[in-house]
Amino acid sequence: MKIMKFGGTSVGKPERMHSVAQLITKDEESKIVVLSALSGTTNALVSIGDALAAGDRTLAKQHIDKLEAHYQQFIKELVTTDAAYQKAKSIVAEHFEFLNIILKISFSDALNKDILAQGELLSTKLFCVFLEEKGVSHALLPALEFMVIDSNDEPLLPLIKTRLAHSLEQHPGIKLFITQGYICRNARGEVDNLKRGGSDYTASLVAAACNASVCEIWTDIDGMHNNDPRIVKKTLPIEQLSFEEAAELAYFGAKILHPTCIWPAQQEKVPVKLLNTMQPEAAGTTIREEAGSVGVKAIAAKDGIIAINIKSSRMLLAYGFLRKIFEVFEKYRTSIDMITTSEVAVSVTIDNDVHLKQIVKELEPFGHITVEDQQSIVSVVGNEIAQTPDILSKLFETLAAVPVSMVSYGGSKHNISILVPSAYKTSTLQLLNKGLFGLE
Ligand code: ASP
Ligand code: MG
Repeated sequence: MKIMKFGGTSVGKPERMHSVAQLITKDEESKIVVLSALSGTTNALVSIGDALAAGDRTLAKQHIDKLEAHYQQFIKELVTTDAAYQKAKSIVAEHFEFLNIILKISFSDALNKDILAQGELLSTKLFCVFLEEKGVSHALLPALEFMVIDSNDEPLLPLIKTRLAHSLEQHPGIKLFITQGYICRNARGEVDNLKRGGSDYTASLVAAACNASVCEIWTDIDGMHNNDPRIVKKTLPIEQLSFEEAAELAYFGAKILHPTCIWPAQQEKVPVKLLNTMQPEAAGTTIREEAGSVGVKAIAAKDGIIAINIKSSRMLLAYGFLRKIFEVFEKYRTSIDMITTSEVAVSVTIDNDVHLKQIVKELEPFGHITVEDQQSIVSVVGNEIAQTPDILSKLFETLAAVPVSMVSYGGSKHNISILVPSAYKTSTLQLLNKGLFGLE
């Protein structure tokens, strides 16, 4: 069994959906195809929910009507026969009728999740109408039958496994299955989701649940690159990454893959391939157990970082100091990304300022606190990088002109992270592209 996941832009236009149909019928291997909502749809559904939450039904209605018009146009170009068109039309009508009913009832968080689910329900059903018109044998597997999360919003992989197996058994002889990304059921049995961009997570979970041969993530870029193509002129696609390297890259800013989505595939050792729908022959990036090679593979940057420095002479020779500091962050459910300590000071970074004021207030009794916002973490990722000779000297030589305020080295074998003011991010990435890869 092979998993193929297509994101919003890969199904966002009728002709793109046609290309997806071609890609999934190229070989004979059994497949589960995971689809996102058409590009723009989830954003529109969020706007509908926001308008309703604010009590503005007129605005919500405007968003609904605009989105409906978009789908009516979409299906005209998606199918050719009248029979298929009538089917697609009634699917669109059914889902927009649902949204219009919601307009009239009292809004709740659970209802909002129902609204958000409409995008993936629509994309998969419409795609199946197209497949049927083409005479491609397939079955629609409703994700709400098997994709479940617990009361902490964590996917329940063992349960997903048994439920998915049961859903598959209902369709003997079928080799092509279509299912929704992103949506799931929560511990209360209500419709919920795996958070924005969660379709990658669905794909990885489904791949783990059925021990797939490969989990293919199809987007519109040819795999992960060694640097941010929006910032440096020349980048190279990375052929192979280990799961650890990929997780670090995804977390530290590489936009191509959702950061949480790696662990299920990693747990079941299912290779993940990042492929490009616009260039299906390109090799893309394979993520697997083995890193393939040693040394620097990529650089990524994450913005919106806040550095907090706590300076205290009381820390000298004291024990339990760090615990007390960490407890403050724990209390406000704010995770720390980087940390450096000296005998009299601790610096930490966070990427979420929701509780910054309270955190600083509670840290004040421990020492002198300074806060610096608008920082960026620049991460150099590669297998065994911390053990690669010369890497540190090369790094600092390259960055002689950059005011580096924190360095994290040795926490992971695959990563060296530095903190720089965001104003220096562009020059840092450009300098490193040259210094570490010899690229412009
Ligand atoms: N449609 C959802 C979103 O836009 C999930 C996804 O595309 O992965 O966030
Ligand atoms: Mg998306």
